[in-house]
Amino acid sequence: MVIVMRPFATKKEVGAVLARIEELGYRAHLSQGVERTIIGVIGDERPLDPAAWEMLEGVENVVRILKPYKLTSREFHPENTVITLNGVAIGGDSIVVMAGPCSVESRAQIHEIAHMVKAAGATILRGGAFKPRTSPYSFQGMGEPGLQLLREAADATGLLMVTEVVSPMEVPLVAQYADILQLGTRNMQNYSLLHAVGEAHKPVLLKRGMSSTIEELLMAAEYILSHGNYRVMVCERGIRTFETYTRNTLDINAVPALKQLTHLPVIVDPSHATGKRELVDAASRAAIAAGADGLIIEVHNHPERALSDGAQSLTGEQFAAMVKRLARVAEAVDRRLAVGEPVVA
Ligand code: PEP
Ligand code: MN
Repeated sequence: MVIVMRPFATKKEVGAVLARIEELGYRAHLSQGVERTIIGVIGDERPLDPAAWEMLEGVENVVRILKPYKLTSREFHPENTVITLNGVAIGGDSIVVMAGPCSVESRAQIHEIAHMVKAAGATILRGGAFKPRTSPYSFQGMGEPGLQLLREAADATGLLMVTEVVSPMEVPLVAQYADILQLGTRNMQNYSLLHAVGEAHKPVLLKRGMSSTIEELLMAAEYILSHGNYRVMVCERGIRTFETYTRNTLDINAVPALKQLTHLPVIVDPSHATGKRELVDAASRAAIAAGADGLIIEVHNHPERALSDGAQSLTGEQFAAMVKRLARVAEAVDRRLAVGEPVVA
């Protein structure tokens, strides 16, 4: 951190800043010009609050040098983090596709969709059993029976499975069934939940809060890493803007920005980002072109009858056709799609 003193700050004012630096156990590096004094604070500045230093007499402004997150940053860990699960590598050269319904609705529904997405090349089945809905009157998910059905369908098709957990108390239960724990946009800053998944022994898919900055997303990831769980992927799922034509605005900038700032795999959710199934294909292609390590896509056997998010869900056919096009985009950016073996049975 660098403290810039006001022009002609008095010796007494400079002395008081130096004393405060020492009092807190840091070292000071003084640079005295004719008009101005600049003080470098040496030591880990993360616990320091620049605003508190700006309150000291004679201080003009305070500049942070380090990012406020550490374990999550690329400086701390220059190599990409690759999360390997059952032979599927997330964050490596190939791009993973997670797909499935917004919500698990029945055994027949999840089995049919699991087979559809597997045949089209997905390697991870998505589906919600605990649904954090905006309205308390909307379908809230099947709960534990839904988790059982997801596990069954994943095992029947040889897919991995990702599902959302909405409360810290339910982390052990969801972790019994899921391969990857999803934290939704509404819970990105639920600190007790971040703490709980930080102590779980399962990878985490952390979705960006709909009104959160990239830095806030990385700080949320830092909570999970700092509790000992390093297997975290961050997910851009669209943010709130003034635009109402689409459900959210896909922040495509976030993809290369996150790749620059963090070593964690970056996933894009074009379904929630657009809210319209006719836009999902283009948004997915853009995500891959921008450097995403994976996609999470809503697919339904009967979108018009879905209990949640039907309007943004692709049919199996649409999904299969899209995956083929995505493979070509991946190739164009020197990547490839991690396509699963088609299921027999
Ligand atoms: C979901 O993936 O079904 C979901 C609820 O996503 P989000 O938290 O991004 O809205
Ligand atoms: Mn959904």
